[in-house]
Parts: sequence; C-alpha cells; structure tokens
Amino acid sequence: MLTKLGRLARISVRGVVQGVGFRPFIYRLAQDYDLKGWVRNTSGNVEIEVEGDEATVNRFLEDLEAKAPPMSRIENVEVALSSPKGYTEFQIGESLSREGQYQLVSPDIATCPDCKQEIFSSTDRRYGYAFTNCTNCGPRVTIIEDIPYDRPKTTMRSFKMCPRCQREYDDPLDRRFHAQPNACPECGPSLELVDSEGKPVEGKDVIKTASQLLKEGRILAVKGLGGFQLACDATSQAAVNSLRDRKRRLSKPLAVMMGTIEEIERHCLVSEAERKLLESPQAPIVLLSWKQGSDIARAIAPNLNYLGVMLPYTPLHHLLLKETALPLVMTSGNLSEEPIAKDNDEALRRLKGIADYFLLHNRDIYARYDDSVYMVEGGLPQALRRARGYAPYPIFLPFKSKPILACGAEDKNTFCLTRDEHAFLSQHIGDMENEETLEHFENTIGLYKKLFRVEPEIIAYDLHPEYLATKYALELGAKEGLKLIPVQHHHAHIVSCMVENNVKEPVIGVAFDGTGYGSDGTIWGGEFLLADWKGFRQVGHLEYVPLPGGAAAIKKPYRMALSYLYTLLGEDFSLEGLPLNGLKSAEAEIIKQQLRRKINSPLTSSAGRLFDAVSALIGVRGEIDYEAQAAIELEMLAADAVDKVEAYPFAIDEEGGIGVVKLGEVLGGVVQDFRSQTPAPIISLKFHHTMAEITAEMCQSIAKDTGIKQVALSGGVFQNRLLLKLTTAALKREGFSVLTHRLVPPNDGGVSLGQAVVANFNEEETVL
Ligand SMILES: [Zn+2]
Ligand SMILES: [Zn+2]
Ligand SMILES: [Zn+2]
Repeated sequence: MLTKLGRLARISVRGVVQGVGFRPFIYRLAQDYDLKGWVRNTSGNVEIEVEGDEATVNRFLEDLEAKAPPMSRIENVEVALSSPKGYTEFQIGESLSREGQYQLVSPDIATCPDCKQEIFSSTDRRYGYAFTNCTNCGPRVTIIEDIPYDRPKTTMRSFKMCPRCQREYDDPLDRRFHAQPNACPECGPSLELVDSEGKPVEGKDVIKTASQLLKEGRILAVKGLGGFQLACDATSQAAVNSLRDRKRRLSKPLAVMMGTIEEIERHCLVSEAERKLLESPQAPIVLLSWKQGSDIARAIAPNLNYLGVMLPYTPLHHLLLKETALPLVMTSGNLSEEPIAKDNDEALRRLKGIADYFLLHNRDIYARYDDSVYMVEGGLPQALRRARGYAPYPIFLPFKSKPILACGAEDKNTFCLTRDEHAFLSQHIGDMENEETLEHFENTIGLYKKLFRVEPEIIAYDLHPEYLATKYALELGAKEGLKLIPVQHHHAHIVSCMVENNVKEPVIGVAFDGTGYGSDGTIWGGEFLLADWKGFRQVGHLEYVPLPGGAAAIKKPYRMALSYLYTLLGEDFSLEGLPLNGLKSAEAEIIKQQLRRKINSPLTSSAGRLFDAVSALIGVRGEIDYEAQAAIELEMLAADAVDKVEAYPFAIDEEGGIGVVKLGEVLGGVVQDFRSQTPAPIISLKFHHTMAEITAEMCQSIAKDTGIKQVALSGGVFQNRLLLKLTTAALKREGFSVLTHRLVPPNDGGVSLGQAVVANFNEEETVL
C-alpha cells in the first residue's frame, strides 16, 4: 500500500508568501492533485509536505511557482524527497515560531476588484462596509506587530470574528481563508465622525454625512491605511486655500484622489504605463501631465504642469469618492515637516485647527506609512517616494550582506537594514529636522529589527556632522560598540543606482543634487565620480561658488544668483535690467560684503543651487517655500518651448587632476538672453541643454582617461524629467550606457541603500 503512495516531498518556500493567500492556494492545489500532507507558516518560510506519485508531485511543484497568488512573490523553493509517511488528508497546520528566523512581510495592498464589487453591491453583507478585505487585499504591514503573521499579532486582535466571518476564515476554499484582518459590519471595526472637539456628529450614515461636509467645502481628517490624510474638494479653490493656510503649506503641491481612471483621464494625460501603475495593487500617487481646462483648483499645484494623482486604495476611500462624486485632495495629515498622525487621539490633538471634522475608526494603525509617489519616465516607473505598497518589500542585493544599519541622510530620510541578500529599505520617514521625525525614525528602526530579526554589526552614516541621522548613528555605535563606517553622500547616491541596476564594475557617477557633505568639507552637489561599491574618487565637479548666508541662500535663490554673478562675472557686475535689480540695494550690498569677506559663505558645487540661481536670475522665482521650488518652476517653463535650441558655451579646466566646469559663460549667456528679451521658456530649455552637454563632455573626458563607458545618474536634481531625458540622450549619443533609478528614489530617499552597500565592502571607504 505504502509503495503506491510514491514519494514525499518536503518543500520550503521563501519570499512574500504570508498574508497573501498562499496557504489556501497550496491547500486547493493539493486538493486538485489529490495529494496528502500539510502546509504551515513558520517565522522563516512556508513549509509543505505532500505525498503522492512522482509525476503528480512534480506537477504540483510546477504549479506552485506558476500559479502562485497575485500578491505573493516567491524568492526561493527548496525540495527534499523522502519516503512517504502515509498521510490520509491535506491539512493546514499551526504556525510555527522559530528563534532568529525571519520572512518577508507584505506591504499593504489596494482593495481588490472582488472586494470592491462587494462594497458596492446592495445585496452583499459587506455593502458599504469600509473595512472589507480578503487574502488578495487590505492592510498588512501597517497592522503587524510581529511575525509570524497571524491575527493575534496584528491590531485586529481586539475584534472577535462573528460566526460567518469565522466560517470564511476557516474555509480553505473561501477567498477570506486565513485573511487575518477579515471583518464585517457585525464584528469588525467601525467608522465614527466627530467634530474638532471630538464630539460625535449627528447623522445615520457616516459616509453620507462626511461626504456632505466635503461637498460643502469642509476639511476632513480621514484615518487611512498608514496614517491620517487631510481631504477636501479638489475643485474648490476656497477649500484648497483654506487647507493650505491651516496646514502652513503655501505652495508645495498636494495629491488628489479620483474615483476612477476615466475621471483621471478627464483631468490628466495618462499613458499606458501610467495607467498600469495607477491601477496596480500598490496604487501609488503618480505624477501626470495636467490637462488644460481641467477644473481641479490651480492652487493644488501652483505653476506646475504635473498633478499627483491616485486611485482609491481602501474601501473607505472608494465609498467617499463615490458618494461625493468629486476629486478629493488627499494629503498627509500633518503640519508641514512633521510625521503623519496615526492614532485617533493624536490626530484630534495635532490636526486641531486644520481639520473641521475627523473621520475616525477603531482599527489601530501600528506603523506609519505615507503614500508612495512615482513618475513614469522613458516608459518605466520610477520611485520618487517609496512607502505604502512598496516598503518593507526588500531591494534584492546581488550578494549576501553583513547585518548593517545605514542611517541615511537628512531630507526625505529612509534607513536601510540588510540581512542576507535583502536590503530592507524603510518607508519614507521624512525630513529629519525635529524630535517627532527622529522618534518615528527610531521606532521604525526598532520595528524593522524585530520583524526581520536583524541585529546590525555595522552602522553606516553620512559625513555631515549636523545631520540628526549622523548623530544618532554615532551615539548608537558608541553605546553598543558597533563598527561605524562613514560614507560620502554622493558616493552613496551613485552606489544606490548601481546596485539596483546590478552593476558592480566601476562607473562614472554623475551626482547632481542640492546638498551633500564633501570629503573636503565643502558642500558638494555637482559631482563626477569614478565609483564602485567599495570606493570613489572625485574626478570632476561644477565650479565652486559661495553660498552666501548658508541656509538663507537655499531659501532665497536670488542670493545664489548674486553669488554666481559677482563671483564669476566680477564684483562690479551691474544688475541693470535684471529681475534682481528690484532687490533693495542694501541687501545686495550685504551679500556682496558676505562674499568679499567670506562670512558664513561656505563653498558649494551644488547643481541644485545652480538651477536655483538661473531661476531667480530670469525672474521665475527668487524665494521658495518648498524644497527645489525655483528649479522645478524653471523646468516647467521649458515645457512651453518648442524651438530647437543651442547650449550656452562652457569650459572644462583641469585643476590638480580634476575637471572643473567653468560656468561664467553660461551665466553671461543667460544674462545676455534675458536682456535681449529672449522668452524665459527658451532660456530655460537652453540651460537644461547646457547641463546635459556639460555632463556628456565631462564624461567623455573621464572616459578618455579611464576607458569607462558606463554612467550612473543619481541625486535629487535628476527628478527633473527634462534634464534626465536630455542628459540620457546626450550620453547615449556619445556611446555611453546610462544607468538610472527605478526602484529607489534618485533623491536622498535612496542614500541609505548606497551607504549599506559601501559599508558591506569596506573596513573604511577607500579611494579608487
Ligand atoms: Zn479583496
Ligand atoms: Zn463578521
Ligand atoms: Zn543627495
């Protein structure tokens, strides 16, 4: 009898295989093939034993990979064969917790089509239910406190399933089999609408009442998946302005949620790749070309040609969007610069004075996650902010890493924990400039260490002594006696780009960004590096100019314009006929003094500052209220230029073996064009071309010395699509292969990944 059973296969599956309907899938597959045995979750993997004849077991193994559930990602399957044990049925076994083992945790998943249909179907028992989910969708990492992923380890533990939900949960053939957050109106979380004092608002149907308030132009704080969002009517200029006033966010663009793809197409141009991204289970915010004539309030993204748009990704969002039949602003529930609020009490406290009403619920959020932001460039998605839907899914490393904590930079901070071939790049943490964000950073490190069972032996950090992340790294390293490895900011940028492209051999790294601490103590940001995973050498940079007043020059680009003009074109340069002429002459004089006496005027080669200067110089923007605003508005302008243009002349001088890009003629050319009334869009386009040509020429000269024909582009300035497009084209024309970002942001959100990789290969960062 036993021999007839053939063989027993013991299978271990690793990857995202928990919380995504993997066990029910295995159960059904085993039923289909009439195989006996069991399947169970452990803290490291999913384990399966099946027995049957050899051919059937083989077919089972093939299907296991080929037909796996949509949200699962199989990383590795190991099979060991032995003699059968004589199982008589197939069972789903108890989960098993193993010391030190870990598994990948699923990000949150947007509402699936089946669940969406249920909440809009009046005969369904989940009709209108805001917490509907199944094994193919719903909250995951935002409610998980520990692994293995089972209900008692989530914030759903306080809800006891009703008999009907329990039946679904227990039925291996049901879509909700072992769906940990499974719930219904009878037994699950519920909504509550309160005013700004926390008092319940009258009304039978919360969604209807909330929607009515939105339609009246009120601002609502809505408890979403990874935190609170602030919502208002996106077509109401008044509502948007009042949200801006209260949030103290003057002009930084706000995201909009629209009910359907058809609605989005009414307001924006949507390419095939963009549509796919919008409709993906990750459902990020996608930057889309904003159509002329759209009735979305201009104040949502003043002076920009792009609109950040997303589709509803929870049942609550679907219900609100349907009921209001309006596009809604959906922006992070915070005051500028603070992390998003996640708990009811916290929101009522922190968002008081911003929101008129609060749409609350009683399912706790364990981990804060902002919405992710993507753009599509060259037909491919590129991350600009990696959070909900993506983290904590790891970036796969082409090597086995030591356990490392890389603390990242300052703005748009993320950290990175590595183990084996996994780089757990954290969700977007935020700008590390206050206690609240530092606390969020520390708590999230704690959670990742616990979920992925990582005890770092090495800490990597940025050279900038004033970054809070650097201070944190140094303190932690000293306290726990860990090895500390500093990594230069732009080297980290370039390595992050190399590693996601799986390139190990040395490249020419072009790092254009705002601020990064240079190895020589100056502020870098227009760098050409010879780089690999171990080390780098600076082989070229944009000419240094002073940053008059330090941070003040970043907030006031006109200061940068003056610095460039006086430094490169002479102290006697006349501002006659330039927008800068409007400056109070006293201020221009003070800046001149600062430059002359080198008071609080550190040197910088920053490409970001050069864009700022040109923007101010031609009157686009002299002062900013969000990061890179002057440069972004300069880029937007060029979209209106259709003419074919030449680049401005520039020179590359060799100084001590390093190529220095001389910018005097560029600035002179911009001034001359402006004075001869060349339209600003043309000047902007010419300037973008110039930066692309500078890059191509510098890379050619580096290639002549080194033979390297591969260029990696990184740094926040490469979020500029026009620059990215022109630079890529100019480099390809010269025969270079060009590496760009896809998975991790080109901005400082990607720095921690690069730091981790450099630290893995070094005792200390080496000079190539
Ligand atoms: Zn679902
Ligand atoms: Zn129920
Ligand atoms: Zn940077």
